[in-house]
Amino acid sequence: MRSSNGYRNYKRRRRGFGYTRRNNLLFAELIIMLVIVIIFVIVSIVKLSNIKKKDSDKTTKAAETKVAATSTQAVETSTLPEPTTQALKAFDEIPWNLVILNTKHPITEDLNIELETLKNGYRIDKRVVDELQAMFDDARKEGLSPVICSSYREMSYQQRLFDKAVNSFKAKGHNQQEAESLAATDTAIPGTSEHQLGLALDIVDINNQMLNDDQENTPVQQWLMANSYKYGFILRYPKDKVDITGIMYEPWHYRYVGKEAAKEIYEKKITLEEYLTELGYEY
Ligand SMILES: [Zn+2]
Repeated sequence: MRSSNGYRNYKRRRRGFGYTRRNNLLFAELIIMLVIVIIFVIVSIVKLSNIKKKDSDKTTKAAETKVAATSTQAVETSTLPEPTTQALKAFDEIPWNLVILNTKHPITEDLNIELETLKNGYRIDKRVVDELQAMFDDARKEGLSPVICSSYREMSYQQRLFDKAVNSFKAKGHNQQEAESLAATDTAIPGTSEHQLGLALDIVDINNQMLNDDQENTPVQQWLMANSYKYGFILRYPKDKVDITGIMYEPWHYRYVGKEAAKEIYEKKITLEEYLTELGYEY
């Protein structure tokens, strides 16, 4: 019994052993399959994530391109001048102190201005007298002697000045048409002189009363060119702006435009024409 038991036991053990071996093999196979499955899954996940990454890269790039395009557009838009949808403001709407006269907008008769006669007999628009007086007072405090040699002009006076200039050119052999265009280069055609507005003054130094380029070197002009804007006056026809004003350099001709405009014109080194353009006026 023992032996048969022993045999049975042995057999059982063997069977047991057989079972264990088979189990082990199965286990190994399972492990291998599991490993393969895990590897497959990992590879799949990596592949998938790579595809996704590429996609997201594409999306980011697309987004970046979009942003770049938008920002480029924004930059381009901001540097481009605003489209002119509004018409220029009419000449008639220019405030009295900024009005300019030219061949396009001459006056045909004397304006109805309230003039004030100064002690020296010259007349000027009543609205600018106080500032003109303050400017002269302050110049005199500096030991200077400014002298007015021209101010408001009536149409008839401007006509006489112009005729005189025309005649001097005719005397030199020019015909009427030539003489008129030559005269217009330094004497305003009647109706186009800003002296007719009552806002322009010719001011010289008592020690040099000649109306020529040397006038700019006199102490009076040096002071006026640096300070007149504080009183609302500008040097109306500067040397380097002849192409804009159409008038030769006149280092004696001052024009009232008001303190605000004068300050900007002085600081930006521009002309009344350029200032009006900035404000959107047609002239
Ligand atoms: Zn003048």
